[in-house]
Amino acid sequence: MLAPPRGESVQLTERINRIQISPTSAVIAEAEKLKAKGVDIADFGPGEPDFPTPDHIKKAAIRAIEQNHTKYTATGGIMPLREAICAWHKRELKSNYEPKECVVNVGGKHSIFNVVSVLVQQGDEVIIPAPYWVSYPDIVKYAGGTPVHVETRPEDGFSVRASVIEKAIGPKTRMVILSSPNNPTGGVVPPGEYERILAICKKHKVWLMSDECYSHFTYDPHKPYSIASVAESNENVVIIGSMSKTFAMTGWRIGYTLAPEALVQATVKLQSQSTSNPTSIAQYAALEAMRGSMDSVPAMLAEYARRRRRIVDGLRAIPGVTCEEPGGAFYAFSSDPRILATAAPAARCRRSSGAPAAGPRALRSWYWCRLPASSSR
Ligand code: PMP
Repeated sequence: MLAPPRGESVQLTERINRIQISPTSAVIAEAEKLKAKGVDIADFGPGEPDFPTPDHIKKAAIRAIEQNHTKYTATGGIMPLREAICAWHKRELKSNYEPKECVVNVGGKHSIFNVVSVLVQQGDEVIIPAPYWVSYPDIVKYAGGTPVHVETRPEDGFSVRASVIEKAIGPKTRMVILSSPNNPTGGVVPPGEYERILAICKKHKVWLMSDECYSHFTYDPHKPYSIASVAESNENVVIIGSMSKTFAMTGWRIGYTLAPEALVQATVKLQSQSTSNPTSIAQYAALEAMRGSMDSVPAMLAEYARRRRRIVDGLRAIPGVTCEEPGGAFYAFSSDPRILATAAPAARCRRSSGAPAAGPRALRSWYWCRLPASSSR
């Protein structure tokens, strides 16, 4: 048998060499290594609820196995789930989608990857407000596009302004990606500003991708909100949703896309040649999440609010450290170079070396640290 080729001799495509391994995955792997050596560390790497998946959802998955829902399903997800997602989104976030405008994916990251793959190509620019979730730029680069970062400021609660987006739009702009509540800042874009951004995107014929993974984790005075509640959003808006955070289902890998039918069908085509359907059992669990009790959501939110208070106050009590009050999600975004110096390697503290020239002043010169609120334990 031939010896496997040594890593360095493998000729990889230019495409794969454009991107880096997700820093989150790299940090998780590093934390696992340290834990295996017996080191007592707090892993701030993954953005992950520490709550278990609610029982009624777990039971639905067990039932699905017992009822032999263990075969291939339609590539875009079982019809009852697509219907339930549309109904849930309508009830919770006031949208108006039909199942043919909905596709179930293998997590929200997969939804974003699919949409960017079918909309973005060489020469296209994609506007991503910074600080940003680390996967956005790499997904854009893999598709051949160029990420263009615009600034959000601590004094605005890290909420991106429509005027800043409009200034960044040029002839090559294809898409704007917004995450509200934001990972890693917790920034929330208020409805009025979101609607101004939508109007700007429509005027310039640019897609607006709205990542709603943290939609239900907002703190007073913010409320769950979707730009899809605006009637004029139907042509150029893509909604990305996920079961991961809202229902503490990160490992089940179920996300979804809501968008105009032609776009959804293009992503189904791509999915049919890559993952095929998301896991059948996980789809039945997600169906229960969409149809069943949502009591676990306010319970988690109350706990996150308690932890938010503790971690924000704790960070602010450190001389020299600043930390904005996060409006949503479960992150606190603080700045102080010394945090990096004192952090364990597995903590999610990195120099923002990836911040491009157009990126925020703050990120170029600061160190940053994203702390899940669960670290109060
Ligand atoms: N969007 C944002 C902003 C995220 O933080 C994450 C996960 N950390 C995702 C999307 C993807 O989540 P998943 O693939 O687990 O649905």
